[in-house]
Amino acid sequence: MFHKILIANRGEIACRVMRTCRRLGIASVAVYSEADASARHVAMADEAYPIGPPPARESYLRIDRIVAAARASGAEAVHPGYGFLSENADFAEACAEAGLVFVGPPPAAIRAMGSKAQAKALMEKAGVPLVSGYHGAAQDEATLHEAARQIGFPVLIKASAGGGGKGMRVVETEDALGPAISAARREAASSFGEDRLLIEKYLTRPRHIEIQVFADTCGQCVYLFERDCSIQRRHQKVIEEAPAPHFNADRRAAMGEAAVAACRAVGYVGAGTVEFIVEGDAFYFMEMNTRLQVEHPVTEMITGQELVEWQLRVAAGERLPCTQTELAIHGAAIEVRIYAEDPAQDFRPAIGRITHLLPPRRSAQLRIDTGVRAGDSITQYYDPMIAKLIVHGEDRAEALSRLRDALAGYEIAGIATNLPLLRAIAASPDFAAGVVDTGFIPRNPQLLVACASTPSAHALAAAFLSARQTPGEQTDDPFAATDGWALNLDRAEVLPTLMQHGATLTARLITTVAGQETLILPEGTFTVAAQFMSRQRCRIALNGVWRTITVLTRDTTHITLLDGAETQVFTVLTAANGAAEAVSAGSGGDVRAPLPARVVRVQAELGQVVTQGETLAVVEVMKMEIALTAPSAGTVAEILAAPDDMVAEGAVLVRLEQAENKE
Ligand code: ADP
Repeated sequence: MFHKILIANRGEIACRVMRTCRRLGIASVAVYSEADASARHVAMADEAYPIGPPPARESYLRIDRIVAAARASGAEAVHPGYGFLSENADFAEACAEAGLVFVGPPPAAIRAMGSKAQAKALMEKAGVPLVSGYHGAAQDEATLHEAARQIGFPVLIKASAGGGGKGMRVVETEDALGPAISAARREAASSFGEDRLLIEKYLTRPRHIEIQVFADTCGQCVYLFERDCSIQRRHQKVIEEAPAPHFNADRRAAMGEAAVAACRAVGYVGAGTVEFIVEGDAFYFMEMNTRLQVEHPVTEMITGQELVEWQLRVAAGERLPCTQTELAIHGAAIEVRIYAEDPAQDFRPAIGRITHLLPPRRSAQLRIDTGVRAGDSITQYYDPMIAKLIVHGEDRAEALSRLRDALAGYEIAGIATNLPLLRAIAASPDFAAGVVDTGFIPRNPQLLVACASTPSAHALAAAFLSARQTPGEQTDDPFAATDGWALNLDRAEVLPTLMQHGATLTARLITTVAGQETLILPEGTFTVAAQFMSRQRCRIALNGVWRTITVLTRDTTHITLLDGAETQVFTVLTAANGAAEAVSAGSGGDVRAPLPARVVRVQAELGQVVTQGETLAVVEVMKMEIALTAPSAGTVAEILAAPDDMVAEGAVLVRLEQAENKE
């Protein structure tokens, strides 16, 4: 076994690998970007090496720097985790050339499976069933159109080099095919540097079921059963479980054997996952991931095996710890991915500091894998996953009830998370019955209602008054104030602008000479009184009706409130995030960046008359394109951004002169 290994990754998976290293007495070496100098994975490692600036392509994707760090540290092997360089054959080769063991399959197997089109051709030969489709080399329009007609609509266009759902497009009719092909090609070329497409029959209510496989260098290959990853948003996994509900042993064996055949066909070594799409009794090969998956813990929970240990043993040349007949399923396990994102805003990633973090208690049946601690920030540079919560039970019902409890007690404040959505799914009768398919979330929009609950007037008032009190933003000198203060007159103060679920919220506070205070909120005008009882508890009266709101956390950019059982997160737009200047101009007609972003294009033209909801600009946040629309009808008065600009959260990109409101 190795004495020291380098982990070429960050976040929860780096921490996860280090845990195994510790248990096996292997020293661990971390690498980190400038954004991660104080990250948990760096603190956990025995040694850590800086590898460059925050953007991944300048640090976690720099093969040269990572290999240099490994050599400098004296590590014998490199574990790539998932994402980043984990499926990069050049990296595996660079490791080998530097005399380092790459903890993963041989470069040839990575290459064979790296192209979805090539992988499908290989699988076809190995007798593994494929969903009907076209994965040929000819890419001209006529060939693709003919293929789509043959397959029959709806079809799904995929980028052959794709991942993360990028470049994927569902096409319902032949008319929509041409434009979809061009768009998918563009997206594939810009994301993966290669524009080869493939077309598949689009199954309308499929399940995503994948098989965990493992092979060693001595010719053994086993499957560690299946995971059902059907609960998805934007074709990306949110909840995974093992075993798959309502799945029989024959089907398990058939798919397991097909997966093993797939491995043997490419001379596979190490951990891998063969992904299938399942409809009715039929299953079809989708792709193979040549690395450890995010959702591997559910397999560990039901098999009692430790997959990172298996990876290290195989990389060190040992035999697999178990044969197929020694493997068995015990109970059921469910994993949920807790993301910093706003489900109510089309799952837009959320960026900011986690000011408060209180996870449920870990136990043998409740595991939390995370790379994030209270006080850490989720940045625009990396994946916005905060933690994975994994529960185990004697059966699925017990696991689910444990999941509900754990989710109810999970406290995260400072940024929006998908916790309300996860709670809603865990509470849903269909999920409890195991009736799942990949359309589950889109088909159940009521699940998102809990994520978009509009704050009560009291909560809004508490948010505005807290924002006003935020330290460092205040001045005591009335003559220095720019808030409309004037001697012997009613004083009108514009409160800091807030943003929630992508919408800007403004309020004004009028104080009469007699000291009476009136709050003008988006939903009405109220006389207001407030008592801040302690740092957290605040009592607010609107038109004489009192209510207590808990201010969970408050800093210069975010406020998290608890109103009854509901958590509300607000972003405060301040000079600090480049957004304060717009407040006095009346921000109702402004189109703002919802997060730190890169401007992709500005569609609005000066003087253009626009209708509410019309797209005016497109920005990119964490590789996801977000269309910014007109909040109201109006005329474009000012354009403040250009393509490729990097803009701050809350920055105004387009200013609208609003159409006259008829009083
Ligand atoms: P990526 O590698 O970009 O994540 P995948 O090929 O793994 O793309 O597919 C991701 C998800 O898209 C699947 O889990 C499934 O939900 C959906 N999907 C893929 N192929 C099909 C298909 N032929 N029909 C219906 N849904 C599909």
